[in-house]
Amino acid sequence: MEKILLHMCCGPCACYPVKRLHEEGFEPVGYFLNPNIHPHQEWKRRLNTAREFAEKVGIEFFADNHYRLREFLTRTALVVESFDSVHFADGFHKRCGICYAWRLSEVARFAAENNFKFFTTSLLYSRHQNHGLIKKFAEHYAERFDVKFHYEDFRVGWQDGIDLSTELELYRQNYCGCIFSEEERFSNDIRKERRKYFRAQKKPSVES
Ligand code: SF4
Repeated sequence: MEKILLHMCCGPCACYPVKRLHEEGFEPVGYFLNPNIHPHQEWKRRLNTAREFAEKVGIEFFADNHYRLREFLTRTALVVESFDSVHFADGFHKRCGICYAWRLSEVARFAAENNFKFFTTSLLYSRHQNHGLIKKFAEHYAERFDVKFHYEDFRVGWQDGIDLSTELELYRQNYCGCIFSEEERFSNDIRKERRKYFRAQKKPSVES
């Protein structure tokens, strides 16, 4: 059976991809590398959940064990403007591109350095991520590190993944990961601003 390195953004998102990859004759090996997750206790909890999942389904598992808050903030500081939490182009923030590129470049490098022929990512399972951009970056880094990217639209197994993670009693987080996404999820001020922004976008333009 061919091994494939599966980047796990978290345990629940990896449920359907692992099932699907097994069906396709692969032997998935989990790799948790997510320096985008904050604060520390949340990162630790998601790492432990990913490990718990790997143990429950019996797959090999590796993890980047370093919490890298400062590096994430340094990388994203230039694109996180004061209105970034409210105003975002096409539903996605500029910082997400940096976040995907960082993670996928390290995953592709890890795959190449550890003699995996293929890699893929559970980010392709999420309905809340920029699927096209993830695919583009993964293809780019696959070429750069000379390893094959296995593309698959895992979003088709959305409900299946939810059911599996519930059966396995995995912790399910309620925000994407970075400290900005946590603020966007829970700040009433930001939610209000966003509603206002989107209402304004729907209005026919009266200028010019
Ligand atoms: S919202 Fe999610 S994908 Fe975007 S930067 Fe934050 S953690 Fe990364």
